[in-house]
Amino acid sequence: MRKVAQIFRNAREEGRNYLLEPEAKTICREYGIPVTKFKVAKNVDEAAKFAEEIGYPVVLKIVSPDVIHKFDVGGVILDLNSAQEVKDAYKKILENVKKHKTDTKIIGILVQEMAPQSTEVIVGATKDPQFGPALMFGLGGIFVEVLKDVTFRIAPITRQDAQEMVTEVKAYPILKGYRGQPSVDIDAIVDILLKTSRLVMDHLEIKELDLNPIMVYKKGAKTVDARIILE
Ligand code: ADP
Ligand code: MG
Repeated sequence: MRKVAQIFRNAREEGRNYLLEPEAKTICREYGIPVTKFKVAKNVDEAAKFAEEIGYPVVLKIVSPDVIHKFDVGGVILDLNSAQEVKDAYKKILENVKKHKTDTKIIGILVQEMAPQSTEVIVGATKDPQFGPALMFGLGGIFVEVLKDVTFRIAPITRQDAQEMVTEVKAYPILKGYRGQPSVDIDAIVDILLKTSRLVMDHLEIKELDLNPIMVYKKGAKTVDARIILE
């Protein structure tokens, strides 16, 4: 947990109220929340080397304190399958990001494991001034954005609370499996909710946390993007 404290301290010292994806994912990992394998590259050769180590296909993403929504500025390139593709994507991301804003500060390029497509869920936390941290759960994409099919609980939550959160969203039948589709790993979601609860209770300086999306499989789950905003 010393690693976690160090990340919060670093951000504060640099006057940042926003953790970079690799920082947020390191914290998640320390709490046992499953995340995609990742490494931060500083040049094209390093990116290709890390891609080999992680295994193809990989995803490349911008790491910058100036970019919160990475996809919107062309800062995410998915499904790269060779060293050459990785090198080209590395350059393309820098080009895209600079086109958007010429003086964007670049820390590096995140090379990460590409998680196979599956059912996407979201786990979030926000801090209520009166009640403290609250947890949110829903299915990804249109379920949260259009249908607002989400559920909340004040932290800390129990295993039973977490189980209720998962079963009470309207889209629950999708998780349970329908028309012969297999059920996804509900216990893996419950586990992530419990660990997120512990994380936000331990660190009351977290104003907002977003694990969006988390891919959930027949067995296990994987967080693909993590965002943490500090007070
Ligand atoms: P943003 O900062 O714009 O939210 P994300 O890191 O969430 O960027 O990437 C945008 C989208 O790309 C994600 O919502 C997801 O659909 C896809 N994606 C990102 N990383 C991965 C990954 N490692 N594996 C599979 N899909 C990914
Ligand atoms: Mg995202």
